[in-house]
Amino acid sequence: MIQVLDKTFEVFIGREEIQKRVDSLAEQINADFNGEEVIFIAVLNGSFMFASDIMKCISLESEISFIKMSSYQGTESSGRVDELIGLNNNLKGKTVVILEDIIDTGITIDKIISLMDDQHPKMVKICSLLYKPDAFKGQHKPDYIGFSIPNAFVVGYGLDYNEKGRNLDAIYQIKI
Ligand code: 5GP
Repeated sequence: MIQVLDKTFEVFIGREEIQKRVDSLAEQINADFNGEEVIFIAVLNGSFMFASDIMKCISLESEISFIKMSSYQGTESSGRVDELIGLNNNLKGKTVVILEDIIDTGITIDKIISLMDDQHPKMVKICSLLYKPDAFKGQHKPDYIGFSIPNAFVVGYGLDYNEKGRNLDAIYQIKI
């Protein structure tokens, strides 16, 4: 049991179990893209630990870069405009694997994919460490899933609760 700010959490997925699953996701990706060049795009901040661990097991010719979703007040009356910060690679004709920490409603990944599509990549696949199927209502289901989890808040292994808890080496679930 641990305390992060005002909330109590308990271990949900231990460090070793995460590492085993991350290794096997990498093996699956290595096999599926054998002989191809892949650009991995990790979504900050939450995926930094996952991205670091999975990339150590990727044996493909590959690149990695990091993006962040942000939204700002546009000039149109339509309100907020989404943008991807850090997408410097030219993705035209490239095979892309997005590395996400968690897909919940799917709204974020849908926005990321639609902004990325402007660059006309050859293929975009999604690899998410965690996936909440009961909350999902998006267009793009992850192609590679570490763990499908119930609809409860988790922290650790990169995921935060009000920016705290990202450093925890296991995944913890909120205790109600
Ligand atoms: P979406 O609902 O768009 O799929 O997810 C939006 C964002 O909410 C995720 O990228 C993640 O930052 C955050 N999120 C969703 N569920 C959780 C959770 O259980 N724990 C943490 N720490 N963040 C979450």
